[in-house]
Amino acid sequence: MRRSVVARENIMSEKRTEISDLGEFGLIDRLNEKVIIKNKSSLKGIGDDAAVIDAGDHVKVVSTDLLMEGVHFDLSYAPLPHLGFKAVAVNVSDIAAMNAIPKQITVSIALSNRFSLEAVEALYEGIYAACDHYGVDLIGGDTTASRTGLAISITAIGEAKKEQISYRSGAKENNILCVTGDLGGALVGLQILEREKQVFLANPDMKPDLEKYTVVTGRQLRPDARMDIVHELRELGVVPTSMMDISDGLASEIFHICKLSGVGATIYEDKLPIDKQTFDTAVELNLDPITCVLNGGEDYELLFTIDQKDFDKLEKHPDVHFIGHITKPEDGKYLVTKSGTAVQIKAQGWKHF
Ligand code: ADP
Ligand code: MG
Repeated sequence: MRRSVVARENIMSEKRTEISDLGEFGLIDRLNEKVIIKNKSSLKGIGDDAAVIDAGDHVKVVSTDLLMEGVHFDLSYAPLPHLGFKAVAVNVSDIAAMNAIPKQITVSIALSNRFSLEAVEALYEGIYAACDHYGVDLIGGDTTASRTGLAISITAIGEAKKEQISYRSGAKENNILCVTGDLGGALVGLQILEREKQVFLANPDMKPDLEKYTVVTGRQLRPDARMDIVHELRELGVVPTSMMDISDGLASEIFHICKLSGVGATIYEDKLPIDKQTFDTAVELNLDPITCVLNGGEDYELLFTIDQKDFDKLEKHPDVHFIGHITKPEDGKYLVTKSGTAVQIKAQGWKHF
C-alpha cells in the first residue's frame, strides 16, 4: 500500500481527548458507533473474537491481530521462531473462541533494516510450524519497511456451521462457567523474563538462569491455541452458549461476557486453575497468585459457558474446569474467596495505552 500524507489539520482538531482516557475498549466502542453494516452476509461485525460472514451452507470467521515490537514482544528474549508461532497462535485462538476451525492465514510484516534474510526466515520457521500444527494455509500478506521496530499482523480465516458458532453474547442465567488449562502463567513468565533481562543488562557476564521457569516462560513466549478443546467439544456434541479466549485476563473477559450477554457471574477462588510452577514463581516474585490468575493476560485459554444439560459430557474432562455460574445481571460479578466472602470482581486487564 502506498503511504498517504495526512494533512496535519486532519489530526489536530481544537478538542483533544487522550486515547489513554478512553482505553482500548472505549476507543473501539467509539469507532464502532459510526459503523453501519450494509451487507446481509456480514452476520457479526466488531465486538466479538472474530467477525462472522455468511458463506451459504456455512459461515466464515475472520480475526486480525497486530503484534508490535516493544509493546507486545521484546526481541532481547523472544526467539524469532517462537514469535512467529505465537503470532499465528493468538489469531487461531480467536478463531477457536468462536468455536470454529481455522483454515487460512495472511501474514503482513514491517521490517527495519536490523533484520536480515536469516532473521526473517527464523520468524517464518515459527509461522510454518504453526501452520502445520493448526492445519492452516498461508495464503498471502504484505511486506513493508519500518522505521521503528518489527510489526507482525496476521489475519486468520476459519469455518463453522452457523449453529456451531459461540458468541460472547449467549450466556444465560444458570449456565456453568468453564475455563480450560490453567491461568496466570504467561504473566508470571513475562515477569521472570523481564527480571532476567534487567540482571543481564546490569551485568552482561551473568547468564540468565531460566531452567527452573520453563513452564511459565514457555506460556509467555510460545502459547498454544486451544483447538484441541474445540475439536473435543464437537466430538462430545457440546456447543458452548458463549465463548471467548483469555487474552486480557480472566476478570476482564468475564466482564465482556456479562456485558454482552446481559448477565452476572459468580466464580469461586478454590475452583480457579493455577499450575504449580506458576503459583510458586508468583510467590517468589511477591505476586498474589490469584491476582495473576484473574488479571494476567496472554494465557490464550478458553472461557466458555455451557447449559447445565451438557455438564455430564464435560464433567470428567481433565482440562476443563468449572469455575462458577452465570447469574442475573442485578446479582453483579463476584468472586467467592476460600473463606466464603464474596468480593466484587474488578476488570483490570491489559492496558497498552
Ligand atoms: P481480541 O482481544 O479477541 O483480539 P480485541 O479486543 O482486539 O479482541 O477486539 C475486539 C473487537 O474490536 C473485535 O471485533 C475487533 O475486530 C474489533 N477491533 C479492534 N480494533 C479495531 C479497529 N481499529 N477498527 C475496527 N475494529 C476493531
Ligand atoms: Mg479474543
